[in-house]
Amino acid sequence: MPSEFALITRYFQRPTPSARLGIGDDAALITPSAGMELAISTDMLVVGTHFLPAADAEGLGWKTLAVNVSDLAAMGARPRWALLACALPEADETWLARFTQGFFACAEAFGVELIGGDTTRGARAFAVTILGEVPCGQALTRAGARAGDEIWVSGAPGQAALGLAHLQGKVALEEPQRSACLAALPRPQPRLALGLALRGLATAAIDVSDGLLADLSHILSASGLAARLTLDVEAVPTFAQHCFLAGGDDYELVFTAPSNRHEEVLALGEKLGLPLTCLGDCRPGPAGFLDVRTRAGEPVAFSTLGYDHFA
Ligand code: ADP
Ligand code: MG
Repeated sequence: MPSEFALITRYFQRPTPSARLGIGDDAALITPSAGMELAISTDMLVVGTHFLPAADAEGLGWKTLAVNVSDLAAMGARPRWALLACALPEADETWLARFTQGFFACAEAFGVELIGGDTTRGARAFAVTILGEVPCGQALTRAGARAGDEIWVSGAPGQAALGLAHLQGKVALEEPQRSACLAALPRPQPRLALGLALRGLATAAIDVSDGLLADLSHILSASGLAARLTLDVEAVPTFAQHCFLAGGDDYELVFTAPSNRHEEVLALGEKLGLPLTCLGDCRPGPAGFLDVRTRAGEPVAFSTLGYDHFA
């Protein structure tokens, strides 16, 4: 049975050229770049709550880091360093090799170096703390939306929720939708290129982890605004509509931008090869209030805004 330290060196220690000191001491040392402020975030995945005991280790490794990269993308910050605290039920090296393969694939894809962490025995759980950089004063917060700003979403939210429903036998998806939805769940693609390009263009941004409406309502509450959304839902089955509006785990970005920059946002989507859809606009009104309509002007009823761990 390898020791805790052997596991750390074997599976977690990789070169960290952009840290002054990485794994192996009591703390890591980093020097932030001049003119940048640090954006710091943490996100945790726990067995039974965020993933099933039998979840594929490689996908889980990817997702553990990807959800944190997504948080920085939503701030317009470039991720640079991460710390990984993990609880493992046993020193299962086959499992760890796969987990770290997924984790470091994500780290390489988004330019993150693992500079420290903690390893302990317990029910499987992973907490990443991520550190990134953003030019001072340019971070995209939730509170910057203004009345009249348009509301945009990237990609196709709802895919992860549809994929999960398919696995649970609640819907039967057909190709090509099935593959897209099943891939969205274990391997979310953080919208980092988009988040970075939105600096100076978006007025507020958030990533969709709990559900489109739930996360949009955080922007609206923080900005003291209401919103009117107009959706093309007539052609969409009710269940897919629900996944689009309230499904979690997609890690698309929802953002607001001034209406006179509509064409610039569309051009950005073209450039990134990522669909960006205008859903509606922000209006003065009760903070967080959402008026969702069909193209024909009919109100769209929704039973929940999204996922809440304690509701
Ligand atoms: P300490 O006893 O000072 O907390 P540890 O023995 O927990 O130190 O960890 C030794 C070194 O290995 C530290 O630099 C720590 O940051 C790093 N480390 C421990 N676990 C992990 C992990 N899962 N991923 C990355 N680095 C880790
Ligand atoms: Mg420790």
